[in-house]
Amino acid sequence: MYLRELRQPVSELKGVGKSIFASYTALGIKSWYDLLLHLPRAYEDRRIRNPLRAGYNGIPVNTVIDIISHAYIGRGRNRTLKVVIADESGTAALVCFGRNFLQDMLQIGRKFYLYGNFSVKYGELQSSSFEVEPFVPEQKPKSFGTILPIYPLAGRLTQNILKRDIAGLLNTSAKHIQDELPEPLRQSLSLMTKYEALRNIHFPTSLENQKLARKTLAYEELLFLQLIVRRRALRRQASIPQKSRASHSGTEHLTKKLIDILPFTLTTDQVKVLGEIKSDLMSNRPMARLVQGDVGSGKTLTAFISSLGVIEQGGQAAFMAPTELLARQHAENATLFLEPLGIRLAYLTGSVPQSRRKNILKALVEGDIDLIIGTHALFSRDVIFKNLRYVIVDEQHRFGVLQRIAMLNKGDMPDLLLMTATPIPRTLALTVFGDLDVSSIRIMPPGRLPVKTYLASEKSRERVYSAVRVEFERKHQAYFVYPRINDTGKSDLRDAETMYEYLTKTVYPGIPAGLIHSRIPEDEKLGIMDRFRKGELTYLVATSVVEVGVDVANAACMIIEHAERFGLSALHQMRGRVGRGTVQSYAFLVYSEELSPEGRERLMVMKESNDGFVIAEKDLSIRGPGEIAGTRQSGFLRLIAADLVLDHELLTQARDTADAILSEDPGLLSVQNMTFREVLTRCPPFDEELTES
Ligand code: ADP
Ligand code: MG
Repeated sequence: MYLRELRQPVSELKGVGKSIFASYTALGIKSWYDLLLHLPRAYEDRRIRNPLRAGYNGIPVNTVIDIISHAYIGRGRNRTLKVVIADESGTAALVCFGRNFLQDMLQIGRKFYLYGNFSVKYGELQSSSFEVEPFVPEQKPKSFGTILPIYPLAGRLTQNILKRDIAGLLNTSAKHIQDELPEPLRQSLSLMTKYEALRNIHFPTSLENQKLARKTLAYEELLFLQLIVRRRALRRQASIPQKSRASHSGTEHLTKKLIDILPFTLTTDQVKVLGEIKSDLMSNRPMARLVQGDVGSGKTLTAFISSLGVIEQGGQAAFMAPTELLARQHAENATLFLEPLGIRLAYLTGSVPQSRRKNILKALVEGDIDLIIGTHALFSRDVIFKNLRYVIVDEQHRFGVLQRIAMLNKGDMPDLLLMTATPIPRTLALTVFGDLDVSSIRIMPPGRLPVKTYLASEKSRERVYSAVRVEFERKHQAYFVYPRINDTGKSDLRDAETMYEYLTKTVYPGIPAGLIHSRIPEDEKLGIMDRFRKGELTYLVATSVVEVGVDVANAACMIIEHAERFGLSALHQMRGRVGRGTVQSYAFLVYSEELSPEGRERLMVMKESNDGFVIAEKDLSIRGPGEIAGTRQSGFLRLIAADLVLDHELLTQARDTADAILSEDPGLLSVQNMTFREVLTRCPPFDEELTES
């Protein structure tokens, strides 16, 4: 437990007036405790001496100086004090802009500690940004010879204000802060006490101590995170009332039949995942499993197959997709594979006409439909099942948790299968989806040629257009993707509408093309996609709406302009639109001249890898966890000390500890930490969530 005192607002701190308070608020710092957790972004090691001479090389100077003389630059009220100084390596000048008062302190003949950034001006070494502290022989300096924190700042805040306020807390209230980790655990991991950790993360006595302090705080954070996540998992496993129905032990007659008629064999990963799903279905608690795998790795087919056992026993299954386009594609595949088995299919989206909808709903409630495929339209209250036993959600991160729950509530504890083509890095899977079981399909079906990816600067766009023309001559199709729908007049980004004009009139006259983006009405979009699929249109000009869905085997080129504008997972998803058939496919990532280092890094990752799992890990290390698709919904993922890229091992340890604690104390009554208890109430365990709506 930490002290009530530390919950006080920062406005209660001495010296924090209105404007500083506002600046703290801008940084999200409300309480004293928040301030203690405002960690340095870097450190300045003032134990390392750098004489004045080092200033010639742009190295911050850290030395002891003698004051030689005073002079003034300029005249009258605007004159500026200039102090000539020297150490054993040479002389330099301090230019005291707005700090003429220093003349009283920097008396000639005295010695000072000095830290500053120097540069050569007018032929001499000068600094206008420096700090000094009187040199007293045989006395330790206050801030020299130590490691100093460098904090993220906002508004009126300065490093000194932060140091003052944080040191103030560390020397008073924070001293009484109690440990949050159980003592035996802390000792077994050789971690610091909470107070030591806070002290050393702000004002480390050595770099080793700073590291240990960070590790201590990170571990604590990860442990609490894991306690939350694992508690959900355990509750789901243990205390959900057991499934009322008999376990799934059908003859697998349908499954065998389907595998027989498939024109190919399943990949070993598909077989593995089917096995994992089967054992979930046979257990007497409801399944909650996430299947992740790249576009085209065969997830959808796997999901279809996994539903057959349920259907064979008279259960119903629902398959949800985030867009109409995708839902229809799934429905077509289902028709191809499942209808021959005698499975009764239905397709329901917002654009299904009323009369037809009425018939579908009637058949559904009477049990005359085995598998229904659709969009958000399936959530609707009047969609009632006779015996919903299995829910499949494609592109799960496009749906909210509550939508998932609404769907589950239409049945009596149905099994849940989530799918995503945006793989989650290992560490994130442990945190965000700690309450789900995760299956991965990493192997692609055989015979697929990996997409060849080229990076092209804007200057070589014409060459890209020529390369694509060659593909057109081979009767292959292409996508052109732009970050904007139309010209807003505000930026010089190319947009889909303008480029559609340009490509159709100037670059590829006479070649049929389609324009597709989110402002085009749904039925028109479907029409365009249809014509593209049939080959009537040779290429599509689009925004990132092509990211999800569309599966056209003959499409061999993906051209993404302003590629640096898109995130890694979006780029990977878009590239996944080609390379779906047996022809060699190409991705051209066209970037603009002014490429940020991060943008360059992203494009290099794309060039070097075709593996969504690898790309996801890179994405995490480039962008950090908050931005990864599907994780934003979990508000507790704001980690302060822990780093999901660096701390994988620590996280695994924390998970094991969390499990051990939970097995002794399932209610977590012994965990006293207040912040943690708050988070706990905000993140109910899975089963509580299920009854929420
Ligand atoms: P995903 O849902 O992962 O994007 P799909 O299940 O839609 O992938 O499969 C993509 C394509 O690959 C489909 O045309 C599907 O019929 C085909 N496919 C699936 N599994 C295999 C396999 N084992 N071998 C060959 N082709 C497969
Ligand atoms: Mg898919």
